[in-house]
Amino acid sequence: MARLPGTGGGPSLLLLSHTDTVVADPSEWQVDPWSGELRNGEVWGRGALDMKGEVAASAVAIASLAREGFEPTGDVIFVAAADEEVGDGFGLPWLCEEHPEAVRADYALNEGAGERVQLAGRALYLCSTAEKMSSPFRLRVHGRAGHASMPGIADNALTKAARMIERLAAYRSELRLQEETDALVQMLAGQKLGAEEALAFARELDPFAAETLEPLLSLTLSPTMISASERRNVIPSTCEVVVDCRLLPGQTQDEVEPVLHEVIGDGDYDFEWIEARGGTRSPLQTPLWDAVAGFVAEVDPEVALAPICVAGFTDSHWLRESFGTVAYGFFPMRTMDAQLAARLIHSADERAHVDDLELGVECFRHVARSVCG
Ligand SMILES: [Zn+2]
Repeated sequence: MARLPGTGGGPSLLLLSHTDTVVADPSEWQVDPWSGELRNGEVWGRGALDMKGEVAASAVAIASLAREGFEPTGDVIFVAAADEEVGDGFGLPWLCEEHPEAVRADYALNEGAGERVQLAGRALYLCSTAEKMSSPFRLRVHGRAGHASMPGIADNALTKAARMIERLAAYRSELRLQEETDALVQMLAGQKLGAEEALAFARELDPFAAETLEPLLSLTLSPTMISASERRNVIPSTCEVVVDCRLLPGQTQDEVEPVLHEVIGDGDYDFEWIEARGGTRSPLQTPLWDAVAGFVAEVDPEVALAPICVAGFTDSHWLRESFGTVAYGFFPMRTMDAQLAARLIHSADERAHVDDLELGVECFRHVARSVCG
């Protein structure tokens, strides 16, 4: 952590990043994944995009502001946290719990978005202001065991579970346009659309736009894991099914659970939520938004800033939940293609363009001056 103390009274800004990465298998890489090799203007290595690039850009931004004698009215804070990828409680949640004064801030910039994209014939920078909630659940379906050679004497929990899985997989929730997605659609369509119309509009644009939009309009259910009998010739008395479920920001498990029971239908089963993580949002009309939009207007005057809800979650939710921080995911990227970057994250040959890292430094300096200046 580092802190450029404010002279008093002004809002504080936290530049948040994480230093841990997922693993890398050197045999899949063109370079040593831990080399940080500079090749054709790109820094290669695990974490270049997720997210040591942003760690470095944040550090350079706050250090250069300090050297120049910048005197913010509120604190500018740098936090490079551990343990974001695994989430074992050693990273930002621990800081929020044990050292709240060290990480409390009015505004924060973190990972999540920032890419320059082409949608519906116009260029946009995306800024993530909301995240879906990871809300997986487990079904334990009960039957009666028996020898597999005499199916009639048993009540097969696996085949009972299969019918429930089919109903869950086929379920389509009512579509809702929440504020971030509504604002994004309005920017692209040039008018207000309903949720169904918005999806039809995206389908006309291209299949990828529709695939991206659809999960932002409702909760999603993906059955992913199943376990039943340990032996081929024993009919299972229980079958466990794990369903990856993602709720819209603001949706609660209490509100969704009765709906899920209706989808699953009658049957002898136990239902258990496994976790509830993320699912928070920050408002769109804030000084932080104005600061980021002001930066975009300066470096890319033709391009607008658009809000987006992301399907995954980041450390931002800890700040929102602990302190009510307005936290956005924004690290600008315009030299590297956004779809290439999305493929490289958590994958082999991850790399970041030096021009994008410099753009990130400029962004953080600009936002610190606008928000805390
Ligand atoms: Zn990350």
